[in-house]
Amino acid sequence: MKVIETIAEMKRVRLELPGSVALVPTMGYLHDGHLELVRRAKAENRWGVVSIFVNPTQFAPHEDYTAYLRDIPRDLAMLEKVNADMVFIPSADEMYRTGHHTWVNVEQITDRLEGEIRPGHFRGVATVCNKLFNIVQPARAYFGQKDAQQLVVIRRMVSDLNMNLEVVNVPTVREADGLAMSSRNTYLSPDERRAAVVLYHALKLAQKMWSQGDRDPHRMRHEMIKLIEEEPLVEKIDYVSVADSETLEELHEVSPRALVSLAVKIGRPRLIDNIVLE
Ligand code: AMP
Repeated sequence: MKVIETIAEMKRVRLELPGSVALVPTMGYLHDGHLELVRRAKAENRWGVVSIFVNPTQFAPHEDYTAYLRDIPRDLAMLEKVNADMVFIPSADEMYRTGHHTWVNVEQITDRLEGEIRPGHFRGVATVCNKLFNIVQPARAYFGQKDAQQLVVIRRMVSDLNMNLEVVNVPTVREADGLAMSSRNTYLSPDERRAAVVLYHALKLAQKMWSQGDRDPHRMRHEMIKLIEEEPLVEKIDYVSVADSETLEELHEVSPRALVSLAVKIGRPRLIDNIVLE
């Protein structure tokens, strides 16, 4: 497994790779959710490139950029085990040279949900993904359903800007009790960890209401919020949404493939999760 730290070297190495190249963009502090993306990437392509970059431009000043967990030796050991071929680990200065003034702004779908709570977040995400795509030139890029809006935004960008790659969606990997795996789960105290499963229970409740024929999104949100508020360690509910899975607009009537998503603060960490109704 080759570790690459500069853009120039990544570009040079890329040019020598015959066959399809897959890219798995991550911010590191890896868990089995990330590794599932790499396994898929390796199964479906000749080469698997993983990027580890905590992207400063997608964090607001009050967010956890400097505190974001980092452990490159641990990440590299995990990536060896799933046979990643290359790991691209640029520094923030390498990715954003002085004088960087170009941004990719995906409009409308970034005004809602995460974008509404975290203004500027998706501008940072779209810009860094565009840069990574240009540097690595993958045939396919792998993203987790866990960050559903991110996936919608990247698909939109790739389609709108006619980029030459396929965006692949990998289902959310969960802990045994249903909590979606996330680097941020590490911040949870043992009690908060037990409480955090309420996000998954709320999503299951929505799925159950849907299966029982309930098509009222207001009632669905109301019942989910009621369930979440019963958990005393919940600090704050940022949103509970029942939306169209492409436009991300809130639905007036729940339809098949609706995206049910939520963001909840449990203690310090803010957790997000979602399901698509089947
Ligand atoms: P991050 O390091 O949090 O930026 O995540 C990197 C990629 O891994 C993103 O495409 C995420 O959606 C994906 N990911 C994170 N957690 C999970 C999970 N539990 N299951 C599947 N994919 C995930």
